[in-house]
Amino acid sequence: MAGNGSDLTGGARRARASSRDSLSRRSFLRRAALATGAAAAAPLAAGALSAGAPAPGPAPTAKERSPMQYRTLGRTALRVSEIGFGGFPIDDPEVVRYALDHGVNYVDTAHCYRGGRSEQTIGLALKGRRDAVVLTTKWCPHHVGKEARKQVFLDMLDGSLRRLQTDRVDIILNHEVGKNSDGVGVDRLKNPEMLEAFETARRAGKVRFLGASGHDPDLMEIMSHVVDSPPFDVLLCRYSFLDYPEQARVIERAHARGVGVIAMKTLAGAKGADLDTFRDRYTTFKQAALKWVLSNRGVSNLIISINSTRQVDEYVAASGRPLEKADLEILKEYEETFSTEVCRFSGACLPACPGNVRIADILRFSMYYHEYGQENRALESYARLVSSERAAHCAHCAGYCESACAYDLPIKSLMLRAHRALAPPSDRDA
Ligand code: SF4
Repeated sequence: MAGNGSDLTGGARRARASSRDSLSRRSFLRRAALATGAAAAAPLAAGALSAGAPAPGPAPTAKERSPMQYRTLGRTALRVSEIGFGGFPIDDPEVVRYALDHGVNYVDTAHCYRGGRSEQTIGLALKGRRDAVVLTTKWCPHHVGKEARKQVFLDMLDGSLRRLQTDRVDIILNHEVGKNSDGVGVDRLKNPEMLEAFETARRAGKVRFLGASGHDPDLMEIMSHVVDSPPFDVLLCRYSFLDYPEQARVIERAHARGVGVIAMKTLAGAKGADLDTFRDRYTTFKQAALKWVLSNRGVSNLIISINSTRQVDEYVAASGRPLEKADLEILKEYEETFSTEVCRFSGACLPACPGNVRIADILRFSMYYHEYGQENRALESYARLVSSERAAHCAHCAGYCESACAYDLPIKSLMLRAHRALAPPSDRDA
C-alpha cells in the first residue's frame, strides 16, 4: 500500500518532532534526572604524571591506554569490561582480537547466531587467549525445533564448545525467553530438564553460571523470576534511555540481590541513517547512549554488536566517562525526533490486534533490517513466523493496535513497511 512506512522521510520526522507536545520532553527530563542521580561518575583511567621526569620504560600497550573500566558481575564475582563484545555479526577474528587489545574482556555469542559462524569466529579469535575473557553463549532448543530435554541442552552446549574451541564457557544463558519468542515464557526457566542439564554441565566444568536473556513484552516477569530464583546469577536484558522506567526498578533489585545485569539494545532503535545528526564535537550519539546505560551502577556492563575496529574505537571510548549535560542534550534530540518511531516493546498493542500479528517481534526484526544492517538475521527471523503472525494482515485492518500504543507509534505503517522488506517477494503485495 502506498504511503506507508517507507514515507517516513527525514522531513516527516522533523515535522512530527516539531509538532510534538511537551509530554515526551517532560518524560525524558524526568528519566534524565533519575539517570543523573544514579550516575556515579567513573573516574577516567589514572594517568596523572607525578612531578619530575617520567620514569623510562616501554610504551604503554593499547590496553593500558584504553579508558576501559571494569565492574563486578554480581555474585559471580567475575570482573567484566563495561563494554562487552556483542558477537552476533562478527565474521573477522582480527576484530575480536583488536577489541581484546583495547580492554574488552566480555564476549557474548549464541549457538544460533548466523548458524554457528559467530561462535566459530570467536573460537578462532580466542585461540591462546581464552583465559583473558569472560565467555557467554546461549542455549534454546526451540530455535532449532527441538524439545527442551536435558540431553538436548547438553548436546547444544557441547556443540557450542566445539565451535568455540574451548572446554568451558563462563556463562550459559537461556536465550530469548518470552511468550512471543517461545510460546512458553517464564515457565521455560522452571523446566527441571534445563536446570538438571545446567547442574550436570556445571559439575563437569563446562559452565560456571546460569542466566537468561529476553526482550519480549513479558520481560518484567522474566527479569523478576531470574532475580528471585537461584541458581540464576545473570540477566541479559534490553535497557536504554527510551525504555520504560519499570525496568530500572528491577535492575536496582537485581543489583541488591547480587544478580549481574548485562544490558543490550542500548541504542534505542539506532536509527542508523540519521545518527550523525545527533552528536557534538566530542560525543557521538552511540557514546552518549552507552554512557547513559552505564550511569546506572546497577548495570554490570553492556553488550553491543561489533564487526569492525572502528566500532571498537567508538564504543570503548564511552567507558570510564561520566554522563554529562551534552550527552543528555544529544539523547533528548534523538528522542524528540524518533519518539514515535521506536518501539519500547511494552506489548500494550498486542491485545488490541484482532489477529495474531507478532507486532513487537516484527518491529524488532525491522530494526535489525533497517537500522542495524543485519538483513539476513531479519529475513530469517521473519521467515520463522507462521502466516497468521505476519504483517500481511495489516493492509486490510483499521489499525486497532495504534490506539493502544502509549508512544503514538504509527504501527500499521511500520508493520507494512516491515512486511514489504522482510516477506518473500511473492508475499509482498500487502
Ligand atoms: S494494523 Fe491491525 S492487523 Fe496489523 S498489528 Fe495492528 S491491529 Fe493487528
